[in-house]
Amino acid sequence: ENLEAIIRNCLVTGGNGFLGQHLVAQLADSGEYEVTVFDIRPPVIPFPGVKYITGDLTKEVDVDAACKGKNVVFHCATAAPTAANAANLKLMDAVNVQGTRSVVEACARHGVSRLVYTSSASVVFDGSPLVKVDESTPYAARHMDYYTGTKAQGEVAVLAANGRGGLRTLALRPSGIFGEHDTLLVPSVASNAARGKLKYIIGSGRNCMDWTYAGNGLGYPRPSVRLPFHLVFFIALLMQYVILPLLAP
Ligand code: NAD
Repeated sequence: ENLEAIIRNCLVTGGNGFLGQHLVAQLADSGEYEVTVFDIRPPVIPFPGVKYITGDLTKEVDVDAACKGKNVVFHCATAAPTAANAANLKLMDAVNVQGTRSVVEACARHGVSRLVYTSSASVVFDGSPLVKVDESTPYAARHMDYYTGTKAQGEVAVLAANGRGGLRTLALRPSGIFGEHDTLLVPSVASNAARGKLKYIIGSGRNCMDWTYAGNGLGYPRPSVRLPFHLVFFIALLMQYVILPLLAP
């Protein structure tokens, strides 16, 4: 089967988010794919040649229109993991569970060949160390937070649709993602460092954590907007160990 031909006309949900921008950049940069982004917010900097649709995953009609005519759908959109108040829980359900189900249904309805869902490693994490885990590892009996529960429910819907008509589905489970356009990890590490809050160790200090570079080893293809990721870490360490101690009374 020629995957190149299948992937030619693709949709990236959440394509204006952190990970989505990397994926869109690489697909568009190759010049081989027709790329459409479906996101509730507009792009910061639009990529030339990419079609942008502003739409809401919680609206079936938006999702249906976006999936129509596509060969491959990369489903990267997500409601952010936010505080567990009633409004946020409702939003996480609507976007991550119902929205994902709408994507699945639209893909099946419109004869999409491949649906790639960005899940999360945390769907199998119950707080105990994860050693030698693989796809056969069961979901956590109790998820660490509500967000993860909604990611797992979305994953179940995606994987259950595998083989429905011509649709093949898969779920990727990255753990921590880092790279350019990250609004979560490095900014919070840097701001904590700036406030002198990097002097703690979780566990024995020998814990391993799995990290995935958003550019998947290929790098970010637009040097003009590349953010100095390593520089941010360097500055954070400089603040922590040199500048703040010097400023201390
Ligand atoms: P992000 O918040 O940067 O991007 C999510 C995108 O989804 C945003 O552009 C947002 O506007 C869009 N979106 C939100 N609600 C929407 C709606 N109702 N309709 C349409 N679009 C909507 O997130 P990210 O960090 O790029 O994460 C991408 C994927 O990777 C997610 O599925 C997430 O669960 C998964 N993931 C991320 C990490 C990480 O460390 N960032 C780790 C594991 C898994």
